[in-house]
Amino acid sequence: MSMLSGGPAALFEAASPAEVMVRCACERAFVHARPPQAEAASGTQAVGMVEDALARLSHAPELPVALAIRLPFCATHCLFCERDVLAAQPSGVIDGYAETLAGELELLSSRVGPRRPLAQVVLGGGCADELGESALARLACTIERRFRVLGETEMSAECDPRRVTRGQLQLLRGLGFRRVTFGVFDLDPAVQRSIGRVQSARLIDDACAAARSSGLRTVQLDLMTGLPGQTASGWRATLDRLLSIAPDRIGLHRYRHHPERFGGHAMLEADDGPEDGGESLAALAAELLLDAGYRWIGAGLFVLDDDDLFVAAQRGRLRCGVLSYGAGEPAPVLAVGSGALGEIGGLLYWNMPSMPAWRSAVQHGGLPVAEAWRPAAPQSRQRDAVEHLLCRLELPRGLCEDGLEAGWHRVAGRATDGLVRVVDDRLELTPKGRLSLPMLCRELAVSAAVARVQGLQ
Ligand code: SF4
Repeated sequence: MSMLSGGPAALFEAASPAEVMVRCACERAFVHARPPQAEAASGTQAVGMVEDALARLSHAPELPVALAIRLPFCATHCLFCERDVLAAQPSGVIDGYAETLAGELELLSSRVGPRRPLAQVVLGGGCADELGESALARLACTIERRFRVLGETEMSAECDPRRVTRGQLQLLRGLGFRRVTFGVFDLDPAVQRSIGRVQSARLIDDACAAARSSGLRTVQLDLMTGLPGQTASGWRATLDRLLSIAPDRIGLHRYRHHPERFGGHAMLEADDGPEDGGESLAALAAELLLDAGYRWIGAGLFVLDDDDLFVAAQRGRLRCGVLSYGAGEPAPVLAVGSGALGEIGGLLYWNMPSMPAWRSAVQHGGLPVAEAWRPAAPQSRQRDAVEHLLCRLELPRGLCEDGLEAGWHRVAGRATDGLVRVVDDRLELTPKGRLSLPMLCRELAVSAAVARVQGLQ
């Protein structure tokens, strides 16, 4: 299923907020990075902050909200994956989780007001198909009973193409879902064997055909470069085969080897990966996808001409929210599920990553919030600058004043590598720089963080 950028569920799946900046390969991590420990509230103080934010939200009953529903279950834990998911769980565990999700939705509805209109619903963090048809239907019934699904509500789910059934896809469509993301990563059998995720191109064909015949409008396939065993010829064959499937969106991700943090990575041979970490394979993918008519959004998302995101980018309205890229101001995001991330009126918060603690809080009628923080002014400016770079592919110097100067200079210094061009008082991203966009965002964010810490000393 989907990894991170481009598709839904970039950030709200991480179970360890303290590590969000390093854990998420997704560029959006740098937009919504968690502040240092001392700046985040925890415990009852965090719960109170979220209660207040929800109370304020209840005064605008017609303002649509988004639901970020985290489902941390997968059939197996893919070795390259950075997510905290539970593999091969018994149906009783998954059903119990779904039941608590329903309880949490009821709690949230009681706070923000009944039948609140929905702008977006995302099922992600793991694989929605792990829920099974009856649990999925029950979850959707609760959403429909407690919130208002509109014709324009964007509902998307991440599914495992190896496991999802036609019945589940039809059910998702019947429940109002319009988008589905499948993980492909690489179709080269040698690469698949080395990463422990074997799935044939025919299987991907069938999953996409089933999604389309079920009426799901947007099918996204996710790829990854930098994996052990990848070669230029094998990668080109993967891309050619992928293009024959003609997905509506393609997410391009980069594997980063962190065996010290992820158990699965420790089982992969870093030396077997491409020498440049997958950069030239990413460049090849971009070239072939652009030649095939796809349009490039942000760092690693490729969409068709008529895609809302491309239209928004053309009009200068592309935004990068907690959940995904979107057109215009993102709706407030209500976190649902253990370890989910939400954002209400500039307040960011994490649900409890411990499943028993999360369940207990919901069962006792309390918000299962672990931490909450409102980015201070310098962090908000950093966030604006990173978002601007991601969505507009340029960085005006004016956005980097008051504490972001070091970040500006650091990114500007990348002109010598051909990643940016300095044009008057702005930095323009080059095509090469676009492939390094997550790294540039990281440099901007890290420089700003260092400057903040130095300012405190
Ligand atoms: S299916 Fe694999 S890649 Fe997708 S979330 Fe689960 S473990 Fe990660």
